[in-house]
Amino acid sequence: MYRSTTATLPDGTKAVVHSDSLIWEKAILRGNGGLANLGATVIEQLRGAGACVAVQHEDLGVIVTPHRGGATEITARVLCTDPTCLTAAETHEQELFWVQHPDTPAARAWATRRAVAGEWQLQAERESIAHYYPGPAVPLHVREGQ
Ligand SMILES: [Zn+2]
Repeated sequence: MYRSTTATLPDGTKAVVHSDSLIWEKAILRGNGGLANLGATVIEQLRGAGACVAVQHEDLGVIVTPHRGGATEITARVLCTDPTCLTAAETHEQELFWVQHPDTPAARAWATRRAVAGEWQLQAERESIAHYYPGPAVPLHVREGQ
């Protein structure tokens, strides 16, 4: 499911985390090209759901979560500071203030990690680049301990 989560980065920057995720059972995973294809499918799904520059052109972070019974979940995330996305996400969260999406804490923690790790560059720098090119293949990072 596609979702946008507001997040405040450690430097105070207001950002949005656009996320999408998919869970495939072991048999489906095996019959559909495995983890690489699951990752590619989630990225395609996220890019199909969001129209902003970050979703379309940034390198998406991919988190792999193995579940009990052999199912595997892949979540693709991207950080975004587009004011339009921020306003939309804030409005949506205000409308649903009484029910927080279960993924919200994880999305915010990811945004902080991403920012602290220095992978996050200023959106202003990106916007000064006249042409965008599709990013390189997205590496799959297996999250340990789950
Ligand atoms: Zn966005």
